[in-house]
Amino acid sequence: MISQLLFIACLGICAYFLTKNIRNIIRNILLGKPKEMDGAKWDRWKMVLLIAFGQKKMFARPISALLHLCVYVGFVIINIEVLEIVTDGLLGTHRILYPVLGSFYSIVINFFEMLAILVILACVIFLLRRNVLKLPRFTMSEIRQFPLLDANLILIVEIVLMFAFLNMNATDYLLQSRNVEHYASTGPFIFSHFFSPLFEGLSTSQLVFAERFFWWAHIIGIMLFANYLPFSKHLHIAMAFPNTYYSNLEAKGKLKNMPIVTREVKTMLGVPLDEVEKKQAESNEIGRFGAKDVTDLTWKNLMEAYTCTECGRCSSVCPANITGKKLSPRKIMMDTRDRMEEIGRNIDKNGHFLEDGKSLFGNYISSEELLACTTCNACAEACPVNIDPLDIIVQLRRYRVMEEAKAPDSWNAMFANLENNQAPWKFSPSDRFNWANQ
Ligand code: SF4
Ligand code: SF4
Repeated sequence: MISQLLFIACLGICAYFLTKNIRNIIRNILLGKPKEMDGAKWDRWKMVLLIAFGQKKMFARPISALLHLCVYVGFVIINIEVLEIVTDGLLGTHRILYPVLGSFYSIVINFFEMLAILVILACVIFLLRRNVLKLPRFTMSEIRQFPLLDANLILIVEIVLMFAFLNMNATDYLLQSRNVEHYASTGPFIFSHFFSPLFEGLSTSQLVFAERFFWWAHIIGIMLFANYLPFSKHLHIAMAFPNTYYSNLEAKGKLKNMPIVTREVKTMLGVPLDEVEKKQAESNEIGRFGAKDVTDLTWKNLMEAYTCTECGRCSSVCPANITGKKLSPRKIMMDTRDRMEEIGRNIDKNGHFLEDGKSLFGNYISSEELLACTTCNACAEACPVNIDPLDIIVQLRRYRVMEEAKAPDSWNAMFANLENNQAPWKFSPSDRFNWANQ
């Protein structure tokens, strides 16, 4: 009874903090501006199935995709076992699913154990890749300090959780073979059996203690892990699904017009406004040109910042980054998340946002980074969870050019040509077909 009460208390505390953190994440995402999402629902579900469940884009790099698949499938499927652990913890039972599944039970547990071994192997390789091989995309300046610690911590915790699971089964099976009460004979656990020699010398009471220790370590570890997720890049295991559902379904690389500018140009050229544009014109709402801070971005941009896995695939294909420019699309996403969370903490502290004199553009992302972007879209194409750093870059750049009037001289010359000649070059429109006379 005491252990049941203790378990209920732990579960309650975990659920309380998890709910609070999830609510903060939703509140922070909704700091963004509204965004209409077009496209058929089926196309969106297809994205979820292919990109989030199927990990399709991960397979552009097959080895890391296979290792990631082991961790993903292993972690998700093994957590089905957590349902049994939670039920046992609440009801004070032990392996409650065994009477339901009968001899099939040990097959299921052995499958989970095989996945646990694969998760451990994949996590060890990921740790080596990050800390010993030091792949270039894992050594860029933006992922030192906390991001590096975060990535390592997640991998180590996953290994520890899997070891707790395997040792829990190893001690359980030894207790079964000694016919100890409450430890029903479920059949052999093959993979965890390799750990049995570690415990064979223990007395039965010590073995019961060890089994309970690993049981508690496994479930408390999962509860702590769940509460750490909202502060970690590992949040992508949850966010990848809504983020891919709300993927941009428009043509790749299409830059959207700004409605207010379209309206002005139409008015200037005498082109009739459509109904929506008329309403917008009547409302006299000017708003901001582009984005200066995260509150000027859309909720989708902010959701993407929470979804970013910090894998660096975007930066590794970014031509600006490859040629030594300051821009890293991964950093754009990380900065967006950092600033959004800074505003969230400000709201938590003051009950509402108290102006702090900071903004995403300027304090986090510099002009040098923005101007280095070629708008090639390679980052969005490479992202395994359909994040679009370019959309944020363009919005910040529009603010810089249109509100701060800070375009490079070469751009200003192009703008003047567009205005005067309806083309980026400085030839008169009347000379446009001269080439045909040559
Ligand atoms: S769109 Fe910009 S940030 Fe993205 S890959 Fe191209 S240059 Fe880099
Ligand atoms: S934006 Fe996408 S590709 Fe880039 S680091 Fe984040 S998850 Fe990886």
